[in-house]
Amino acid sequence: MTIEQIIHQVKENNPQAKIETIQSAYDFALAAHGTQKRKTGELYIQHPLHTAYILAQMKADVPTIVAGMMHDVPEDTNTTLENVKQKFGDEIANLVAGVTKLSKVRYRGVERYRESLRKMFLAMTDDLRVILIKFADRLHNLRTLEGVKPKKRLRIAKETMEIYAPIAGLLGIWRLKWQMEDICFKYLYPEEYKAIEYRYEIERKVELNQYIQKVKTIVADRLTAAGIEHKIEGRFKHLYSIWQKMTDKDRKFDEIYDVFALRIIVPTVADCYNTLGIIHAIWKPNYNRFKDYIAVPKPNGYRSLHTTVFGPEGKATEFQIRTEEMHQESLYGISAHLHYKQHSKNDTKTMRWMQEVLDAQRENKDTQDFIQQIKINVFQDRIFVFTPKGDVYDLPRNATPIDFAYAVHTDIGNKCVAALINNKMSKLHQELKNGDLVEIVIDQNRKGPNYEWLDFVTTKKARDKIKQYAKRFSLARIRKIMPKMPK
Ligand code: MN
Repeated sequence: MTIEQIIHQVKENNPQAKIETIQSAYDFALAAHGTQKRKTGELYIQHPLHTAYILAQMKADVPTIVAGMMHDVPEDTNTTLENVKQKFGDEIANLVAGVTKLSKVRYRGVERYRESLRKMFLAMTDDLRVILIKFADRLHNLRTLEGVKPKKRLRIAKETMEIYAPIAGLLGIWRLKWQMEDICFKYLYPEEYKAIEYRYEIERKVELNQYIQKVKTIVADRLTAAGIEHKIEGRFKHLYSIWQKMTDKDRKFDEIYDVFALRIIVPTVADCYNTLGIIHAIWKPNYNRFKDYIAVPKPNGYRSLHTTVFGPEGKATEFQIRTEEMHQESLYGISAHLHYKQHSKNDTKTMRWMQEVLDAQRENKDTQDFIQQIKINVFQDRIFVFTPKGDVYDLPRNATPIDFAYAVHTDIGNKCVAALINNKMSKLHQELKNGDLVEIVIDQNRKGPNYEWLDFVTTKKARDKIKQYAKRFSLARIRKIMPKMPK
């Protein structure tokens, strides 16, 4: 991967894009990573380059691509976030900081990890672009998974399947979701993967490709005759979703019929309906399979016309008809949505759109909890605070390091003597902010909490524990003076 490829892609998305920043981000990252190598043996700079390229493909904006290029700089080199800020400003530094924070999370048991990530994704909802960078980072790490030890490989594959892929789906970024799933499938179920890959890629794709070619020629001729500009591509179901269908519905490989579809991309919505009419005039449609997602989009915003016809040789053949904009949105979800609508990151419409997606997906079992979390936390004023190990605690707004210490463990609260917020020594009554990284300094010899902490703590747990200790302590003192006092 080269910087030229990225710049080319960015210019293709937006000829007016200011590419100078991308070039200087590259120079900056290159200088910082130096001759560092990845476990695969290639130069480290290849990783941020690929991450930035994936983002450019997703039509992310320039600051996101720039931040993607530098996402590992503060963590893995001697160059600091402060350096990034000085050179590239607050917006980009904040994106890099967001990704760095996400990378602090470590997998410790599925349940806890899920919880942590859910909360983090929520904490990051004020700038979705952080998640896009994290997705791109993860996708490239998956592609180079061969370079890491088998145990870690499995952990990453599992983590991706459980957290990243569902969230990518939730945000409508299907292309990323499929890519992630197929790579993870290969590592998590190698035997099944190989079996399906063999039958699909080697046995059937040749045959299907010939068929698709035949259909394509017929449709293309008619569309040209009707004066409709078009692009037609064959689309194959990805391996993991075939396997899912086989296991969910207990079907054999040969019984999965919708393994392919033809996608027709035309300039306007009117062209979509005209194309539909032309196809129905050639082959008889199966009306049960006709869906107008343009008139009635799917809850996640997906738009297209779907129809299945009895094609040549009576073979069931699915068409998906859409405009270029609809196409991009179907591949890149919220990312393309931001691009096309040119929404700024704080645009309330975008957030409302996302909220609608979340609302509508409530039916989905897997995401129900996640949505519940979002709803609860959006409406109650909570903040999310990180431990140095990457665990997340949610606390009420106005919470202090003492509240945090007690949330972690009573002993930590009782023995707390100082606190570092984002690596800076802070006062114990300092108000915590969303996303803060808090480290509590304890003194093992400390007898107990300071009664004055009651003046500023906000959580019930902290208040109760401090009072409890004060009570016990005064009782103990009384006992000392009057040893024979009954218990
Ligand atoms: Mn990375």
